[in-house]
This record gives sequence, structure tokens and C-alpha cells, in this order.
Amino acid sequence: MTDPQAPSPGDVAQASRLRERLEQYAHEYYVLDAPTVPDAEYDRLFGELQALEARFPALLSPSSPTQRVGGAPAQGFGEIRHSVPMLSLNNAFDEADVLGFDRRVREALGDAISAGEPVEYSAELKYDGLAISLRYENGRLVLGATRGDGSIGENVTANIRTVRAIPLRLRAPATVPQVLEVRGEVLMFKADFDRMNRQQREAGEREFVNPRNAAAGALRQLDPAATARRPLRFFAYGIGELAGAGMPPTQSALLQWLRELGLPVGAELECLRGPQGLIDYYGRMMARRADLPYEIDGVVYKVNRRDWHERIGHVARAPRFAVAHKFPAQEAITELLDIEIQVGRTGSLTPVARLKPVFVGGTTVSNATLHNEDEIRRKDLLIGDLVVVRRAGDVIPEVVRALSERRLPADDPAFAGRYRRFSMPTACPVCGSAVVREAGESAWRCGAGLFCSAQRKQALLHFAQRRAMDIEGLGDKLVEQLVDAGRVLSPADLYRLAPDTLAGLERMGEKSAANLLAAIDRSRSRPLARFLFGLGIRHVGEEVARQLAADYGDLEALMAEDWPAVQQRKADIQKENTRRRPRGEPLLPVPLEGIGPEIIDSVQRFFAEPHNRQVIAELLAAGVAPVGSPPAAMAAGAPVVAPLAGRSFVITGTLPSLSRDDAAARIRAAGGSVAGSVSRRTDFVVAGEAAGSKLQKAAELGITVIDEAGLLSLIEAAQPSGAPGPGEAS
Ligand code: NAD
Repeated sequence: MTDPQAPSPGDVAQASRLRERLEQYAHEYYVLDAPTVPDAEYDRLFGELQALEARFPALLSPSSPTQRVGGAPAQGFGEIRHSVPMLSLNNAFDEADVLGFDRRVREALGDAISAGEPVEYSAELKYDGLAISLRYENGRLVLGATRGDGSIGENVTANIRTVRAIPLRLRAPATVPQVLEVRGEVLMFKADFDRMNRQQREAGEREFVNPRNAAAGALRQLDPAATARRPLRFFAYGIGELAGAGMPPTQSALLQWLRELGLPVGAELECLRGPQGLIDYYGRMMARRADLPYEIDGVVYKVNRRDWHERIGHVARAPRFAVAHKFPAQEAITELLDIEIQVGRTGSLTPVARLKPVFVGGTTVSNATLHNEDEIRRKDLLIGDLVVVRRAGDVIPEVVRALSERRLPADDPAFAGRYRRFSMPTACPVCGSAVVREAGESAWRCGAGLFCSAQRKQALLHFAQRRAMDIEGLGDKLVEQLVDAGRVLSPADLYRLAPDTLAGLERMGEKSAANLLAAIDRSRSRPLARFLFGLGIRHVGEEVARQLAADYGDLEALMAEDWPAVQQRKADIQKENTRRRPRGEPLLPVPLEGIGPEIIDSVQRFFAEPHNRQVIAELLAAGVAPVGSPPAAMAAGAPVVAPLAGRSFVITGTLPSLSRDDAAARIRAAGGSVAGSVSRRTDFVVAGEAAGSKLQKAAELGITVIDEAGLLSLIEAAQPSGAPGPGEAS
């Protein structure tokens, strides 16, 4: 009979294959700072090896990755032997693991803790950077070392000294310890990482995969000047050797003390009792993850009482008094099955990756947008590739890169045709019309507009969505049928749908047809902002729609607006405000504040298009009556501050009572602007005695000439509260 404890030759081979892979990945990750696979893939193989070794202890060896910390120190740095080893952390992936951790802690504590008493833990964030040990002697930084293999690390003192977050000298409250080894994490903030990668890209240099590897790469530069240029940060989370000062009794007191010594200690530190407290903390921190300025890959729980640490002890590579509770992986590997084209509402052709479904960031992902052709080329994606997919927080999933090094040899006939390069179609895959790429744009577009049924469908879905007309029940399947059958060509057709037209459609019972018609009917009186958004005007998102609705109050006013005049008024007021700002004078309200010329152009073009006016007219005729409210500037109590807003004046000659400067000041205070010379853009010339060539020019251009009294009455006349507000048609 075979020994059940003895591994089969297959198990032995599998263990050695896993070790080889893990060692290769660890080398890329720890030594080269350039991992080729996501952490989750590493963790998966690591877990597989652990399970195999647990089943067959004969397979265990001290050199196994499961028994070791990190990687060997890189060449080029001096070596440092850590006086207190720098360990890794064991992982917990779910609640059961956390309960198991708490149980083992209690077992190790034995009768040091009474049966009903929960263990107190300190809970911290798990910063995703690299571990560092900082040695301070008599308050001065003398050494900085990486973790290396846990016993021997690299001497990176010169580089560490360039990290501004790390004090070269400790602040001295009561006593400065003779020796203090601070353990913590060097990391790069997300925004700094993005900026640095952008610079790398622009300089044609290698981009970093993630902030952790960027931080590790930056710290392990052979030239400290190169490190100094990289935006590194630091958080302390523990200590190694300590001499000449008393050890704080708890982890939380220790961190407080480090903070007093001038070391950066992360926020979000909490003391919690029992495993349920830990699990709650995990949930709260996970919800905050996306908003933190730096990456965390989980949280860390440590038994708070430090005198218990020794009692609980450690295993080969990690302490038993602490555990890292990891967040779900944000990256995973899967296969790129195909690249398909999606035609959007405005005709843009977007390549979409069809992926072998993969669980990542807490959901199953099977599609991801690839944005445009350039993106596919930049990432060198081939259909058939293994790819890294990332889904962080609520951000839509993305294909990060291809594992091109894992491609099978193309010259091997066994793999012929396995990979295909994608090329953009030259005709719209839906309607067959030609596709064009406008100058300065990265997207190809089908120019067929609403002739293209894909665009028509998207436009209808956009119109019907909850944030627009909120027509519940009008989903993509139904729109597809209605458009394909020629029943609905424009949004106005929706309001003319008859019950029996609907009832004849697939999966449409009498009841749901009635519900849909009721929803369509309700949508007749949606707020103006929702209606405007639903029209699908290019560049008009919800926020812009809200502002247009608020500033104009009703659809008629909007459609009657003279948009070039609005642009002009805006430009004049902005110019005037630029003048006022340094002088501390009150600023004038800018019409359609925050809405740029490109958006206004687009609104103008939309309303100038006869087809669009026709659709709107049909909608109104079908009883759609968007509900507006009085324009913001006219609303009760809203101050009317700029009676002369947008009006341009030129002053010439000597006025009877006002100096030219006084007159100019009054005009500006009322929102007008004053120019030095007469042009077609001048609205009024204010003329006094001995006016010369400017008066003549005004006559030539047909510009209204007024005197001082005229000016004063213009300002006064404009003052009452009924004066036109900004944004109103004038
Ligand atoms: P780890 O990074 O999972 O956890 C231990 C480390 O956490 C400590 O050394 C410390 O630097 C850090 N840490 C952050 N905040 C902390 C805090 N508040 N308190 C204490 N420590 C804190 O473990 P590891 O051994 O450094 O690396 C293993 C992990 O690295 C794997 O789980 C894997 O995800 C990743 N890895 C990936 C690859 C790859 O190819 N992608 C290769 C090797 C390792």
C-alpha cells in the first residue's frame, strides 16, 4: 500500500513547477520592480503551493517561497543585516479567516485572557508600498534599509535621505532613544503616480505598472538624485530595535509616540475589540478605499498589547499576533476572446473587448471598453491574448495590458491563427455607411446620424433613461424591436404609440404594454433639465442641462437665444472681471458660468438644425410639456447686480461733472465695460465737450452717442429689480 502522506511524482512535479513560477514572479516583483502578473495571480499560486505543502509535509523545504520573506537583495547596494527581522504578514481573505485568526490568538494567549473577554486589536490600513527600516541613533537618521529577504536588506540610506516625509532628525519631546528602528512603508500617492507615469510616457520611457512598483523602483535607484526626483511618501507602522527608552505598552500608544517624534503615521488607526469589530472596520475602510489618496490593498489587525506579542510568537515568515485582511483583488488575468464594435449615440465607433468572464473587483466582468484604436495599438493587444483586467471601486473595468510574454509561438503550426490583430472597420458595422475620423479626434464616427439604426436606438435609450425622461420599461430589447420594425424613428413617435402596436411585440403582455404607455404619458411633464439632457445635445450632460434650465426657465427662451451674443457677453464680462479681480472690486456674475464656448457652440448648432427643431415641435405637439421654473436671476430675492452687463462704452471729450475715470468707474460698477477706441463692438459713445475723432467714428459706424446725463439715466434706469438678468435674451 502506498503511504497517504507521500506525494505522488505528479505532486512533486507540480510543487516544483509552482515554486519555479513563484520565484520568477517574486524576482520580477521584488528585485526588478516590474511584475508581469497581478498580485491575485501570485496569491493564487502561493495558496496552491501552501495547500500542497500542508497535505504533504514532505514537500516542505526552508527555501520554499511559502517559508520566506520577499526576495534577495539586489546587486549594487550594500547589505544590511536587520537586528530584528522584518517579517511579512499572513493573509486573511474572508470573515472565516478573521475568526480563525482571533481563535488562534486566544489559544496562544491561553489563560492570560479570561473566557468572555474580547481581545483588543489595533486596526490599521495596509499601505501598498514597500517596507523600510529607518535607524535613528540619538535622534539622527543613520541608516535606511529595505526588507530584502527579511534578514538581510539593501542599504538605501542615501536614497532615503531624499524622501522629504522622512525626518532626518527626530523631534525630541522628553527623551530621544539611543537607538530606534522605525518600520514603515514607503509609497507613492495616486496623483503623484499618475503625473510621474505621464512624464515617463511623454519622455518615451517605461511606465510603471502601479504605485507600489513605482515607489519600489524609485527607492532602489542607484543614483540618489534620481530618487529625489520621485514623489515618495512614508508612513510608520511599527518598530524594530529600541534602546534607551521604554517600550510603549500597546501598538496604538507606540504609533502615537512615533507621531510625537515627528514621524508620519497614517490616519484611520482604531482600537477595536473582538473579531466583529475588525470585520466592521474592514467594511468601512473598503468603502473609503477609492477616495484615499494612496493605494491600500487591505487592512492590518495587530493584537494591541505589545507584551502579548512575544507570547503569541511568529511562524516562519510572519507574526501570529497580526494578520493582513486583504481587499478583493482589483486585477485578474483572463482571455481576450474578441474585439467588437459598438456604435454610440453620436456615431462614435468604440471597440469593446469581449472577455472570458472573470471575477475581479467584486463582480464578474465579461466586457470592457477599449476606447479607441490607438489605445489597442498602444497596449499591443491581440485577440486571443491573455490580458490583465482591472476593476477598481465603481470605475468601469479596463484592460490594462496583454501578457505578451505568455504568447504561444506563432511559428508553431499548432498555434497558427491563435492570435489576430484587430483593425478598425472602414464602414459602420450597423448601417454600412462610411466612417470618418475628424481631425484632432481619436474616435472614428459613422456619419449617418439618425439614419444609422444603432444611433437611433442609442438616442432613444438616452431619451428614455431614468435621468432623462424616465420612461420605465423602455429597455434595449424593446427599442431594438420598435426601431427595427420602423415603428419608432424619433422620440416623438413614442408618444404616438398605440396599445395594439405594443401588444404585438415580443415579450410584451397587455399589462406591460399598459404600464409602458402610462410611463410614456407621465414623461410628458418631466422637468426641463431632464428633457434637455434627454435631447442628447453633444456635450450637454446632466449638469449643463440643469444650468441651462435654471438660467433660461423655459424651452422657448432657450430656443430663441442669440448664442453668439451670449458668447460675446460672456467674454466681455470675463475680461472685465479679470480687470477687477486684482483690484479687489466686486466681480460681475458671468452668464452660463462654467459652460465653455465649445458647449455653447454645440447648443447653438443643435437648435439651428431644422431636423432637431422639427423633432421638438413634434414632441410639443404630442403633448410633451417640460416643466421649467423662472430663470435663476429673476427668482425672488436674487440680486440683479449687473445692469450694464455686456455693454461696451467709449468715453470721449470732457464731461460736465464727472471725470473720465469716475464715469468709467460707474459704468464698470454697473457691469459695463469701457474701451479706449470705438469699434463695431462698442454699444455707446459717451461724448462731452471738445470730443474729436471718436465722435466722428461713432457717427460712421452708426453707434448711439449719449451725454453724461444720458449715461446716468441709463445706469439708473437699469437698476430696478426688473432689469434683464444674465443669461436672458436681450
Ligand atoms: P504583503 O505586502 O502582503 O504584506 C506584508 C507587508 O505589508 C509588510 O512587509 C509591510 O511592508 C506592509 N504593510 C503595509 N501596511 C502595514 C501596516 N499597517 N502594518 C504592518 N505592515 C504593513 O507581503 P509581502 O510578503 O511583502 O508580499 C506578498 C505579496 O506581494 C503577495 O500577497 C502578492 O500580492 C505580492 N507579490 C506579487 C508578485 C507579482 O508577481 N505580482 C510577486 C510577489 C509578491
